[in-house]
Amino acid sequence: MHISAIDFQQGKSFIALLVSPDSIKTSQMPGFREAILSKMPELRFHKCDNGLGNSFADELLDTEVAHVFEHVLIEIISQMDGSVDNIRGLTTWNWRKDPRWLYRIEIAYDVSDTVLAALRSTFAILDEVFQLCSVNLSDAEDLSPAFFGTLGKS
Ligand SMILES: [Zn+2]
Repeated sequence: MHISAIDFQQGKSFIALLVSPDSIKTSQMPGFREAILSKMPELRFHKCDNGLGNSFADELLDTEVAHVFEHVLIEIISQMDGSVDNIRGLTTWNWRKDPRWLYRIEIAYDVSDTVLAALRSTFAILDEVFQLCSVNLSDAEDLSPAFFGTLGKS
């Protein structure tokens, strides 16, 4: 998983995130929801407009990892910058136009230093969560080695 582009304009940050095919959906990783909520319990209370009426805590069972990335990033920015509240975010993808596995994350916040620091923390948290999931797996041999190898920090 790595960032392929970042842009800041008109009060927003635009992040292009390339995700490993082995970690596209949270449902691919047993224990993901519990692991991420143990690292970041605040996510339980996040609002999420997913078109299904699911709470974000329910979404965590089966959603795009890029969508979780968006929520973690927003949570960290909110914790770093006490002057903001309820930052809005959106995660979209269009693989007819963009490379496959590329997600576009847009957040209504553009203090670039804060966003860059928060991105580093988001990668660190997801890295820990991915490792926790592998520990919790009863059938760890089913995990593709590529899953670990592609979680980069570039
Ligand atoms: Zn959401």
